[in-house]
Amino acid sequence: MSEIIVASPADFHVHLRQGNMAKLVTPHVRLGGFSLAYVMPNLKPPITTTSQALAYKAELESIDPTVEYLMTLYLSPDLTPDEIFKAKEAGIVGVKSYPRGVTTNSDGGIESYEMYYPVFEAMQRVDMVLNLHGEIPSDTKTNTHILNAEPKFLTHLHSLHKAFPTLRIVLEHATTRAAVEAVKACGSTVACTITAHHLELTVDDWAGQSFNFCKPVAKFPDDREALREVIREGHPRFFLGSDSAPHPVTSKSTSTPTQGCAAGIYTSPILLPLMAHLLESFGALDKLEGFVSNFGRRFYHQELSTENAENVILRPVGACNVEKEYHAEEQGVVPFWAGKELHWEIVRS
Ligand SMILES: [Zn+2]
Repeated sequence: MSEIIVASPADFHVHLRQGNMAKLVTPHVRLGGFSLAYVMPNLKPPITTTSQALAYKAELESIDPTVEYLMTLYLSPDLTPDEIFKAKEAGIVGVKSYPRGVTTNSDGGIESYEMYYPVFEAMQRVDMVLNLHGEIPSDTKTNTHILNAEPKFLTHLHSLHKAFPTLRIVLEHATTRAAVEAVKACGSTVACTITAHHLELTVDDWAGQSFNFCKPVAKFPDDREALREVIREGHPRFFLGSDSAPHPVTSKSTSTPTQGCAAGIYTSPILLPLMAHLLESFGALDKLEGFVSNFGRRFYHQELSTENAENVILRPVGACNVEKEYHAEEQGVVPFWAGKELHWEIVRS
């Protein structure tokens, strides 16, 4: 087995947080082999205006100026068509929608989409991307829970695509066969991100293991197989969005009778070697560059010419153990795969 060259890997869904946590995790984008980060807006308070997004971008650039940050706004009732036009002018790429209360910092999330149609109309006009956290909130009256929240969301995806056929939409972090099929059935303006960890985990891995707990939760083996299949197939509308989401060690490891552990899995610092390792494990190593770079870049109109592509070289290794924890300024984060072996590493010059 010889080296693999990947041109300018791009992570189309990542949480870089703020303050000390941002200082710790932002450099890990580059450490993990990536030169582009599509940055999520669920801070406290959420990024709802162009000026907030630009200030956040400046904060990230002051931490690591070598990564390209594509910024997003948080969909909320405060967002107006005028703000969309302003955001587009300022180079902001997308708007992220969170259903109310389903994940970290989503208390301000949406309850129904119709009220946002004027915003979507404006986004469609200026060609901004709508990023969907595709789950509906749990509700005992309708038997909605974390295992069927994603399939039950898919009717919203179809109605949004029908109402706004040229609006580019990304269904984020798909975890089910139903989601893969729904995206495939849509037209060329609808794409889908898949995380690294959902290519490995199933229900059994997070039940009782808080470090594998994330939203959406990993589903059944057949769902995982559907994610693997669509990558093996090299489908150009399915690409990597790591949803790498760091939480302090204590909030990941500890639940109390009144508070569950934090949802989120942290993959940034090992992302490219992990992707090579996982894709190799299910016979898709030849699709690595498409999945982690070309397909997403094409959908987001972020393609690079061969001259300015930044090649990252991976080489196979017998075994390379993943760090058990990353620390800085009293912040500690445990990565996915902590202490386990990866069989690929980045060649560093
Ligand atoms: Zn996310």
